[in-house]
Amino acid sequence: MSEVLTGQPDRVRQNPDLPMAMVAAVRDIIGAVNFAPLHEPEFRGNEKRYVSECIDTGWVSSVGAFVDRFERDLADYCSAAYAVATANGTSALHAALVTAGVLPGEEVLVPTLTFIATANAVLYASAVPHFVDSEKHTGGIDPEALDAYLAGIVEQRSGRNVNRLTGRPIAALLPVHIFGHACRIEQLAAVAEKWNLLLIEDAAEALGTFYNGRHLGTAGKLGCLSFNGNKIVTTGGGGAILTNDPELAARAKHLTTTARVPHRWSFIHDETGFNYRMPNLNAALGCAQLERLPDMLARKRQLAELYIRHFRELDGAEIVMEPAGCESNYWLVAARLDRADLSQRDACLEALVGAGYGARPLWTPMHRLPMHADFPSAPLPVAEELEHRLICLPSSPGLVAT
Ligand SMILES: *Cc1c(COP(=O)(O)O)cnc(C)c1O
Repeated sequence: MSEVLTGQPDRVRQNPDLPMAMVAAVRDIIGAVNFAPLHEPEFRGNEKRYVSECIDTGWVSSVGAFVDRFERDLADYCSAAYAVATANGTSALHAALVTAGVLPGEEVLVPTLTFIATANAVLYASAVPHFVDSEKHTGGIDPEALDAYLAGIVEQRSGRNVNRLTGRPIAALLPVHIFGHACRIEQLAAVAEKWNLLLIEDAAEALGTFYNGRHLGTAGKLGCLSFNGNKIVTTGGGGAILTNDPELAARAKHLTTTARVPHRWSFIHDETGFNYRMPNLNAALGCAQLERLPDMLARKRQLAELYIRHFRELDGAEIVMEPAGCESNYWLVAARLDRADLSQRDACLEALVGAGYGARPLWTPMHRLPMHADFPSAPLPVAEELEHRLICLPSSPGLVAT
């Protein structure tokens, strides 16, 4: 279980039939379909009832009882002291960076292997993303490689850690838990502490994932979740900021609700805040979805186990399993090809999509996108390799019967 994302070197094999073998394995698991999307939401609980309640009472917009309840339920589930609901995961990340105190012109360390939202949020805060490498066995930032890299580029200037290549302060570390699998967050927290970095977690994909018994998104100052339509729990669109710090919670709430000073009738805003509120309608959907989270997690685990078993029979690919210490939500089940071979990866994607299975590659690494060309970056050999080896497979909880 330790070599999770990378195949053992002695297993590297050539299998020209891999694309068709993968299609056959997926068909064995989920049957023949017209089209199985990568991840579909499921509404089998109180969703209609709670949403109707909003419509019947007129409380559809940016305040309401479901927003309060959703924040409470979420904080309870994650064992975080506070949760602040937001319009989406991207706005949660942006507001979390500002709340933590990241300033314009400062650098924020982010993995190059992530969804665009992570880098966008850093840029919305007028900060500079600084791309770092991932590790093979979790897909997240490699703590030891990061520590060694920082030792080579950081210099102290008037008590601050400055990137001596750019002259900018390095202010924060923003790790991402990809596919719902935990990165080694405790080691990353130690690196953040050593280099005096604010730790903010992008746990957008990780609702329901625990590492050494702790829910992801609660190891640093702030953690962010997403409830987009393709995530494990959806509010249509939505996000949340988790924190254990009462002052940061109050500040995040204030910033995301237009920085309005509470008053019975006057409009006083004491700074330029954001309208990042989650509407009550969306929170209603979220409350119903959270009630069903344990059931969805159980079925996603069953689905992952089916994939793991069927892919064991395959030559040339295996399923990415939860890292040691991690109880994963298995949000997206991913196959890892033994060989980093782009043409083989694309042949597998072509075959799967052609057969009606909504498989997807990993994101294009952030450092290769044109608008990021001038941003600083560490050497990224592992990220480049993983990009060529990972394929996400249809992972909807509905693919497993209740
Ligand atoms: C989904 C996601 C987000 C946030 O996305 P929104 O669509 O804005 O809710 C951020 N980071 C990662 C890694 C994600 O997968």
